[in-house]
Amino acid sequence: MLSIVSTPIGNLGDITLRAIETLKSCDAIVCEDTRVTGSLLKALDIEKKELISCHGYTDNKKIDRIVERLEKGEHLVLVSDAGTPGISDPGYKLVSRVSELESIPGPSAFLAALSVSGLPINQFVYIGFPPLKKGRQTLFQSFVKEDRTIVLYESVHRIEKTLNEIADALADQPDRSVVIGRELTKMHEEVVHSTVATLKEAASSITKKGEFVVMIGPNR
Ligand code: SAM
Repeated sequence: MLSIVSTPIGNLGDITLRAIETLKSCDAIVCEDTRVTGSLLKALDIEKKELISCHGYTDNKKIDRIVERLEKGEHLVLVSDAGTPGISDPGYKLVSRVSELESIPGPSAFLAALSVSGLPINQFVYIGFPPLKKGRQTLFQSFVKEDRTIVLYESVHRIEKTLNEIADALADQPDRSVVIGRELTKMHEEVVHSTVATLKEAASSITKKGEFVVMIGPNR
C-alpha cells in the first residue's frame, strides 16, 4: 500500500489526524527533500523513519526498487515538501506504477487560494506554473475566452513579469477580476483583489516575498 499524504503549505496546524497516524505507522516515507520531511517529523514529534528521496529527476531504477518494496507488502507513504504530492510536485512517476493506493487528503495551495478568492469556483482550470518560454504567450492568450476561473502558481522571481504579461494579454477586458494569494496560512498571509485594469500597479506594489497563487475570474 502506498498512502499519498498531503502536508501543510505553511501552517503546521493544518496537518490532519489521519496524516499523523499514517506517518507514524508506515514502514518508510518517500519524500522530495529528506531535510524538509525530517523537519516535519520532528515538529510533529514523530520518531525518526527511513526517508527515501524521490524527486522529479529520480531514475526509473529507484522507482522500481520502491515498487518492489510495495509489492513485498510494505506500507510506504508519499509526501512532497508541502501540500498535495503530484500537484506541481513529484509523484506522478511513482503513483502511475502502483495499484494499491490510498489518499490522505489535506492542504493544497490552489484550493486554499480559491476558497478565499471570492471568484466563482464551481468550475475552474488549474494551470500549475506557466511555461517559462515555449507556449507562454499562447497560454495567456487562451485566458481571453476562458469562461471558468483560472488558477496558477508562480514563484517570487517571476510574479511581477507574469502579472504584467497577463495584464497585456487581457488588456481588452479591463474589468476582469484578478486575485493574488500570497503566503497563505502563514504569518504574512495576504489576498490582493485587483482587476486587469489595475493589475500592473498591483504587480509592482505586491510584496516580493514568499509564495504566490494567481487567480483570474471567468470571461462572462
Ligand atoms: N504540491 C503543492 C500544493 O499542493 O499546492 C504545490 C507545490 S509547488 C512546487 C509550490 C508552489 O505552490 C509555490 O511556488 C506557490 O505558487 C504555491 N504555494 C505553495 N504554498 C503556498 C502558500 N502558502 N501560499 C501561496 N502559494 C503557495
